[in-house]
Amino acid sequence: MQLHTLEFVKRFTHLPKRFYQLKKPTPLAGQLALVAVSADAAQLIDLNLCKQDQQELIEFLAGRWLPKKSQPLAMKYAGHQFGFYNPDLGDGRGLLLGEVRNKLGQVWDLHLKGAGQTAWSRFADGRAVLRSSIREFLASEALFHLGIPTTRALALVTSSEPVRRERIEAATTLLRLTASHIRFGHFEHLYYTNDLDGLKQLLDFVIKQHYPEIQESQDPAASLLAQVLERTALLVAKWQAYGFCHGVLNTDNMSILGETFDFGPYAFLDTYEPSFVGNHSDDQGRYAFNRQPSIVHWNLICLGQALLPLSNESAIRQVLDSFTEHYTKHYRQAMAARLGVNPDENWQLVERFLYFCELTSCDWTRVLRALAEGELTEANSLMLNKQDQLPRGWQEWLSDWQLYLAKNFSNQAVVEQTLTQVNPCVLPRTHLLEQAIQSAEKGDFSEVNRLLAIFRQPFTRKGKQPQDTGSVPDWALGLSLSCSS
Ligand code: AMP
Ligand code: MG
Ligand code: MG
Repeated sequence: MQLHTLEFVKRFTHLPKRFYQLKKPTPLAGQLALVAVSADAAQLIDLNLCKQDQQELIEFLAGRWLPKKSQPLAMKYAGHQFGFYNPDLGDGRGLLLGEVRNKLGQVWDLHLKGAGQTAWSRFADGRAVLRSSIREFLASEALFHLGIPTTRALALVTSSEPVRRERIEAATTLLRLTASHIRFGHFEHLYYTNDLDGLKQLLDFVIKQHYPEIQESQDPAASLLAQVLERTALLVAKWQAYGFCHGVLNTDNMSILGETFDFGPYAFLDTYEPSFVGNHSDDQGRYAFNRQPSIVHWNLICLGQALLPLSNESAIRQVLDSFTEHYTKHYRQAMAARLGVNPDENWQLVERFLYFCELTSCDWTRVLRALAEGELTEANSLMLNKQDQLPRGWQEWLSDWQLYLAKNFSNQAVVEQTLTQVNPCVLPRTHLLEQAIQSAEKGDFSEVNRLLAIFRQPFTRKGKQPQDTGSVPDWALGLSLSCSS
């Protein structure tokens, strides 16, 4: 399949016209360059891109060419930003270029981020820059291969069109793929504008397209909330178990499908510091790593509020009250799996492990991988505190854990095989991304492509890969990023 032969279908445009603005991309000016393509993401819509097709892809991402059936639009939504309701949000720099059906019958939204101004750009330029587009591209593909639900990224194209941020940067577009771009904020907008008819239509639409299993429900609004809550609880459990800090958990960045959505100043924890705040503008630490579960719960309460007119308070409340139970179950499962432990019987082994991680602020990803590989000397050296000593009690923990493994696994090879499948050697850590960005800003995209290849197999150790798996350079420790992108 090539871009001009994709099968476009109409779904979102069947909703009322007030839900969106039809708008074509503003073409990128100047010289264009294809930075990277994810062949995995392209496969989702059956695209096989040979060399000749690359020019078409570049023109498509640059907003200079559209397949005939594509009818681009910007979506209206609202949302709570840092706790405050903002009615004026919407796609301000992204466009839904269309919905494409693949040969399996699945429909994927093609969304171009950085496509120019829309009715909801407010005072901003409608563009995205190379730096943030590379970060979104690599993170979406990396999270997917780590097994964390996420939107996908097919490709990114940069240009010589200048964009003003803290400095002048290159306007860049990214093609994002997901089954739905509907956010909690879509529902909030309809609720806060008293558009009950719209709210009902959106509910029916989301259920029909994405949750057909609840179509017969007596209380579709509460059932949808329950489905979204379960998926979102699983999502945040995975974030906590792998150290992903989203950075901007506003309700307009919450996907109705429970996927990681809208990558801004996100970061994976390098050292285990639960109160880590990745977003430079987040003075209060509202979106600190360890607050993510409760913030996500708060966001689900906003969604529940928006669905109230279509259900009743006790049903909505009952669903919302189940969050902690779902979250705890998923978090314990994911975290215990990283140590090969049964979450119901030996959770204390995990708690004790995390206690040491916090005490020494160790690089817990590397510790876990060393433990998974049976490299105990390496694990011990990573666990040393600032005085070069192992924390009191660590050795006891290590023997208790080994005893547990000896009892529950047939041999060391099985332990290794099991644990290396859930403990990555590489993550899209801030310093790796920064290095790829610096080269890309000079026109060299090889590091972006090298990282893409590495992040496709995060559980496979290739040689020693010291530059990707080794210690984090001092300049990158505790780095927090700005929102302006
Ligand atoms: P975000 O912080 O990425 O979740 O974006 C919040 C809101 O600002 C959304 O409505 C975006 O569409 C809008 N926005 C962010 N950056 C830009 C930009 N450069 N131009 C226009 N709108 C933007
Ligand atoms: Mg956003
Ligand atoms: Mg954003």
